[in-house]
Amino acid sequence: MTQISNHMPTAELQALDAAHHMHPFTHNADLGAKGARIITRADGVWLTDSDGNRILDGMAGLWCVNLGYGRQELVDAATRQMQELPFYNTFFQTSHTPAIALAARLAELAPGDLNHVFFAGSGSEANDTNLRMVRTYWAEKGQPEKQVVISRWNAYHGSSVGSGSLGGMKGMHSQGGLPIPGIHHIDQPDWWSEGGDMTPEDFGLERARQLETAIKELGADKVAAFIAEPVQGAGGVIVPPATYWPEIQRICREHDILLIADEVICGFGRTGNWFGSQTMEITPDIMTIAKGLSSGYLPIGGSIVSDRIAEVIGNAEFNHGYTYSGHPVAAAVALENLRILDEEGIVTRVREETAPYLAEKFRSLTDHPLVGEAKIVGMMGSIALTPDKASRAAFEADGGTAGYICRERCFANNLVMRHVGDRMIISPPLVISREEIDTLIERAWQSLDETHAKLQ
Ligand code: PLP
Repeated sequence: MTQISNHMPTAELQALDAAHHMHPFTHNADLGAKGARIITRADGVWLTDSDGNRILDGMAGLWCVNLGYGRQELVDAATRQMQELPFYNTFFQTSHTPAIALAARLAELAPGDLNHVFFAGSGSEANDTNLRMVRTYWAEKGQPEKQVVISRWNAYHGSSVGSGSLGGMKGMHSQGGLPIPGIHHIDQPDWWSEGGDMTPEDFGLERARQLETAIKELGADKVAAFIAEPVQGAGGVIVPPATYWPEIQRICREHDILLIADEVICGFGRTGNWFGSQTMEITPDIMTIAKGLSSGYLPIGGSIVSDRIAEVIGNAEFNHGYTYSGHPVAAAVALENLRILDEEGIVTRVREETAPYLAEKFRSLTDHPLVGEAKIVGMMGSIALTPDKASRAAFEADGGTAGYICRERCFANNLVMRHVGDRMIISPPLVISREEIDTLIERAWQSLDETHAKLQ
């Protein structure tokens, strides 16, 4: 067997990777020619690659390493739990202390009457749970026809068949027979790209009222729930106009539609509160959680559910679950992660110190000739690249070339920023310091300069 280690030359690792490893959301045939970037270590907000480069991780991995890399306490929590009870399931009326403790802690942290947690291994699995849970809820209440879930185009809710269908990514729908029946999509509240001559406020109302139109067309007696992220992440950090969420809430209430807030990115301090629902003043019936729940150190997700839904679901056996629902090691690590976020005051520091500082610096990027708007909430932000700020023009019909070039320039400058079309995104670890924010902005500016030069 080939002994593979971080000490091997990068080219050899890349060749083996291209030969055997199929990557998510990657043109795998390209890997042979280009080779993957191989990350070997990480500490705080810094990654190290196989060539020894130190890279500032402006994306917290995949929006998840909220606590930053290298926290020994999480390693210790995992070790202790591995030694004590590495696995037991939570099916058939069994439980264990890590799952009990984590569920109880989440019930304390979650707003309102969201007091019950159904665990999963990921955000995708949790959204699949939600799909079945809301349908089961209405069926148990004697309204089995209330089955349709409304979501938004360009939303991302995961990659499983159910969650990929809930999402509104057309590139995903074009492969593998998505979406499944019973999902309806409305437009997203992206004023920069789609708002035309409307004010952001009017546009926010118009987009929210698409929900009401859809409910009326489908029939409120057919619609189970509306799902959305408080702030769309993978869609490009789309921050909705202030008018959007209050109107969505009114519509859900008036038509008796459940509201699912997908907090997979927004949760656990990312927006400056424990949950994005608190930042956007939303009262959901269910919240989807994952990513920052364990700071990505181990896979875990879940659905935090209101009293009224839990009560109804509890009336019958809910024939649903995953082998790793409430996995004891993942739960122990998540619990330790929540303890540190709380005891070190990281969420408060984001809200009161780091996020305002980052916002000021990030907005200064709009002085660059290539940057139209900068949108930022807490520690998630995006800039829109444009050839003409005044008209909010796009580079080309389907976009993405400028964003792709910029992402490559960021890589070359040892900064991870992601691109979604021609929007450039940041979502750094919540523990990033002011000095590191300065470095992030300097490298972003330099990458924008280089992108600008390439586009001339
Ligand atoms: N929901 C949102 C909002 C996400 O951003 C993601 C992942 O990026 C998911 C769900 C899916 O989570 P996972 O990749 O853990 O399945």
